[in-house]
Amino acid sequence: MTENLLISGGTLIDGTGSDPKPNHHIFINNGEIIALGENANKTANEFCKQEGIPLEDLVKINAEGKSVMPGLIDSHLHCSFDDVQSNDELFFHRDPIMVALVASQNLKKILRSGVTSFVDPDTAHGIGPALRDAINANVIEGPRMKTGVQALLTAVGGTAGRLIPDDGTVGYAQVVNSKDEIVKWTRRHIKYGADWIKIHATGSIPGKPGELLVWNREELRAACETAHELSIPVMAHCRGAESVRVCAEEGVDLILHASFMDEQGLEAVLENGTSICPTFTFLANLADFGEKVGASPGMEDIFRGEIEQTAKMIRKAYDNGVRIVSGSESGFALTPYGHWHARELQVFVEALGLSAVEAIETATKNGAWVMQMEDQLGTLEVGNLADLLIIDGDPISDISILNDKAKIESIISKGQRVDMEESGPEHDSIPGWKVGNWAGDILTWDKAYD
Ligand SMILES: [Zn+2]
Repeated sequence: MTENLLISGGTLIDGTGSDPKPNHHIFINNGEIIALGENANKTANEFCKQEGIPLEDLVKINAEGKSVMPGLIDSHLHCSFDDVQSNDELFFHRDPIMVALVASQNLKKILRSGVTSFVDPDTAHGIGPALRDAINANVIEGPRMKTGVQALLTAVGGTAGRLIPDDGTVGYAQVVNSKDEIVKWTRRHIKYGADWIKIHATGSIPGKPGELLVWNREELRAACETAHELSIPVMAHCRGAESVRVCAEEGVDLILHASFMDEQGLEAVLENGTSICPTFTFLANLADFGEKVGASPGMEDIFRGEIEQTAKMIRKAYDNGVRIVSGSESGFALTPYGHWHARELQVFVEALGLSAVEAIETATKNGAWVMQMEDQLGTLEVGNLADLLIIDGDPISDISILNDKAKIESIISKGQRVDMEESGPEHDSIPGWKVGNWAGDILTWDKAYD
């Protein structure tokens, strides 16, 4: 079933980076934008007459005084993590069938916050392709989805330290111990339906500060060459200057985080046409609100410092034409689904100094590249797929309203209005799902009798 929609009178922010245009009309048929501009009304009437569609079947939406923009594309979120609070929980307390069921509920939440497309780099138990195919086949409701299977990790691990096994798989991780294993698992993931290969280029070693590059050049090249031979792009988690440079040089297409990128890193990114998804949101939430949710104290300044330092170089990259995309890292307790998908745009405005129009482009036009749907998605243009938002307010004067669900008046996904009432309840506690804590604090004798 498809709807014929005529959206009238709104201010159009088309996602191409051009200035907003007042009093625009958009006509949508069969999931596609058929007409756009001042004459879309006329086109809609003529089209209906021609196609024998009764005019009363044309759904008219008055958007006067509102903003109309492309649906958001979140280029980095983890839809199978269920707002997880610890690595322990994520790796050892998640039954795969329940993971899939809960993810299908969370997809509805993501869609109803204005995200009409997203890219998931790596999924618990590798369920990404199954979720994507279920959405595409109308088994479950969700935004358009592109996905990796699991992240490839060397035995040093990723950000979960010694929770990562020496061999095999756990949670969202697939350990690869040699060049042969890298080639084998890259091919397997593609066979299982990966749209992207994700590499965890940096990892943390307990007792050592920061993250270190835990792949060598030959290994990175093996993953990139194998994926590219099968026309699949590669993204890499890089939190460290060296990793950005080496990954760009060895053929990674999209760098996640790019923390502490230096001049040589930027040079490599420019030379190789690499794109960057900074994903500041997690850090920004931790810096600004960590205290409110009992996050490890004293981290605020560290994360604020990382944002400031990295933002300078990301701005420089942006000015030199590097494609910057918006990702929220939703799926963690600090970045729950449906709440922070546009927070990155706010950081782009505040920390990078982008204009609101430029920031929106990172989550629309540029996101379409990560979706591998550049010719169809991300901008409101005739012939493109109809994913759009009607916002009760002006995100150009205040970008933060895109995080305020009360301001999202309508979401049109795949040419259909999303039923905003039908978001479904929050799930109750699931047996065995969370890590139990004996206590939030240590019961010393002094504390007991103080
Ligand atoms: Zn991530």
